[in-house]
Amino acid sequence: MSNMQLDTLRRIVQEINASVSLHDSLDIMVNHVAEAMHVDVCSIYLLDERNKRYVLMASKGLKPEAVGHVSLNIGEGLVGLVGQREEIVNLDNAPKHDRFAYLPETGEELFNSFLGVPVMYRRKVMGVLVVQNKEPQDFSEAAESFLVTLCAQLSGVIAHAHAVGNIDVFRKPTSGSTYKTFQGVSGAGGVALGRAIVLYPPADLTVIPDREAEDISEELELLDQAIASVRKEIQSLDEKMQDSLMSEERALFSVFLRMLDENALPSEIKDHIRAGSWAQGAVRKVIDKHIALFAQMEDDYLRERVSDLKDLGRRILACLQEADSSHRELSPDSILIGEEISTAALVELPVDNIAAIVTSEGAANSHMVIVARALGIPTVVGVTELPITTLDDIEMIVDAYQGRVFVNPPRRLRQRYKEVQKEEEQIAKDLKQYETKDAITPDGVSIPLFVNTGLMIDVVRGVQRGAKGVGLYRSEIPFMLRERFPGEEEQRAIYRQQLSHFANKPVIMRTLDIGADKDLPYFSIEEENSALGWRGLRFTLDHPEIFSAQIRAMLKASIGLNNLHILLPMVTSVSEVEEVLYLLERDWIAVQEEEQVKITRPKIGIMVEVPSVLFQISEFAELVDFFSVGSNDLTQYLLAVDRNNPHVANVYSHFHPSVLRALSRLVEDCHIHQKPVSVCGEMAGDPLSAILLMAMGFNTLSMSSSNILRVRKAICHVPMADAKQLLDNVLQMNNPLVIKSWLEHYFKTHGLADMVKSNRLVSA
Ligand code: PEP
Ligand code: MG
Repeated sequence: MSNMQLDTLRRIVQEINASVSLHDSLDIMVNHVAEAMHVDVCSIYLLDERNKRYVLMASKGLKPEAVGHVSLNIGEGLVGLVGQREEIVNLDNAPKHDRFAYLPETGEELFNSFLGVPVMYRRKVMGVLVVQNKEPQDFSEAAESFLVTLCAQLSGVIAHAHAVGNIDVFRKPTSGSTYKTFQGVSGAGGVALGRAIVLYPPADLTVIPDREAEDISEELELLDQAIASVRKEIQSLDEKMQDSLMSEERALFSVFLRMLDENALPSEIKDHIRAGSWAQGAVRKVIDKHIALFAQMEDDYLRERVSDLKDLGRRILACLQEADSSHRELSPDSILIGEEISTAALVELPVDNIAAIVTSEGAANSHMVIVARALGIPTVVGVTELPITTLDDIEMIVDAYQGRVFVNPPRRLRQRYKEVQKEEEQIAKDLKQYETKDAITPDGVSIPLFVNTGLMIDVVRGVQRGAKGVGLYRSEIPFMLRERFPGEEEQRAIYRQQLSHFANKPVIMRTLDIGADKDLPYFSIEEENSALGWRGLRFTLDHPEIFSAQIRAMLKASIGLNNLHILLPMVTSVSEVEEVLYLLERDWIAVQEEEQVKITRPKIGIMVEVPSVLFQISEFAELVDFFSVGSNDLTQYLLAVDRNNPHVANVYSHFHPSVLRALSRLVEDCHIHQKPVSVCGEMAGDPLSAILLMAMGFNTLSMSSSNILRVRKAICHVPMADAKQLLDNVLQMNNPLVIKSWLEHYFKTHGLADMVKSNRLVSA
């Protein structure tokens, strides 16, 4: 692509991103493309799925009155051909083609050459972009790639418009209470009915929700105060920069101050407030409008001012947020909505009042989701099209089994989901009987079930649900809840609680596993490729002072209880474990000397998360006492698929044959070396996969407390002989979806239908 084309591309993309409506985006696109490619016509047809027609939505060159009126059947004409084939159609003499459809309303017969490019989003055709010329000509490869690049951008804009309801231009206009559904990825199961509470990061204009002002005069006053303090801030910046910037470089400050004049931005913002918006939402609307205007300007200098305008908006917003003391109470049916919600932000809230969580980013095994699952909160993540800013205080249903979110649901659907909730309560009641049972198969094989902990609530629920010990204590969770690294004594007290609640039972404490998606609020690790970066043991070995404080705290906490086991996360190489063993020995001797007591030497294990470990079990077995599979990370690294990326969530599956085969071999290897091996990733907490793990021969399974009873029930119902047969069957299959359905079928036909999520689906 030439530099000129790249420039044009950049410009179009910038303008589209700044435009306020889908119509504007499409118009910008057709005008610029026609100009840049010197073609007579550029048109965009969008697929109206309900009526199965391509509607002409924008055109430069065809008769303007045709726009919005002319449409083609889904299989009709060259446009239909592009959509059907999902590929480019490039013709020098289109009217000669047998699929050419003559549309008299458009004046199309004049044009000979035709280049049509499908607009694809997530493997689906959303529309077709067409350029046409009077002169017969073959469009070049460069022209094709130019349009392909643009269409990829356009697809995101259209998907977003669909999501917020704009695409209803095909039909009736939308209102604020339109019923809409969104699809994401199921995080933690369950269903909830409630009202949305949008959580947004501070001073970020793009995520400020629309909200009605509770008291208009109060909002006007808040705005006045905010504007006054931003003015002050800018004046003092100007003074501070007098010596270091030339006067023309400081001109920006006077531009800012002029924008803050009462009859400039503030008066526009106030208009929105008087119309009923809260001040923060009004600021967002006005700044957005001006950004769109600036972005269309021809002058490069003025276009570049967009970032200054954003800066000014952020400053006003920061002042408003500082003054905002109206932190709303969470009512018991609150559904938290956000782009991303961190574990720390979640646990800071009164969790009993959180009915569900929905985020536009993230994927099923992110850290926040694991914590939400432990807390039993239905969670849907990766709802990429969620129009977050429009959802505040809106009624919704979250079906976390299907990963679906219903906004402004109709009464019939609400009723149906209330019934589902009742069924859920019934299932939970039935499961209660499993609190006191052991997980023993009908043919007499016992599989001890352990609990994964982090928060105190996991410990309480784990004990109540009869866990045989703690299979994974995620020690980073208490680190996340603080404002600095906790000291040795602080840690000792935390660990003691865990160990003493499970006195006489093993407690496997994992050393600090931060990095990747497990960020500490006070120690952020910014990396390009964080999943492959400085995380887990890689981090703690570089910080022996942090590592040692933790080990010493664990050892001290275990005095007299003797149930401490230590587990190392993200192990890649034997040498790392050798280093740890050296540090451990040193700390073990030192703590005993200091405390003048004998401390039982803890058993040491490693997590099998990095595939390299799979091939060196014999070497590791010489150094450690046990193995524990972190199937969340192992799946991520075996399949090379980011566990947090919603775009590839469909590729991430612990039913992938490679995962199953790797685990089967791993168990054999560990047992050859007489080392116990367990699974503590989410795979162990899914009844379908738990049965396979049991058949493979894992010694124990460890899971979130919210899954223990379900898995125990499954084990009590599935004879080992059947489980082995199922394992044999699925090891010969190569499609994760087929494997899952195979297992589901068995469950449904053997009295375990309520363990199968898809059985509780509601179609809407
Ligand atoms: C895992 O990776 O499976 C695991 C248990 O660790 P975490 O989810 O905390 O990374
Ligand atoms: Mg892990």
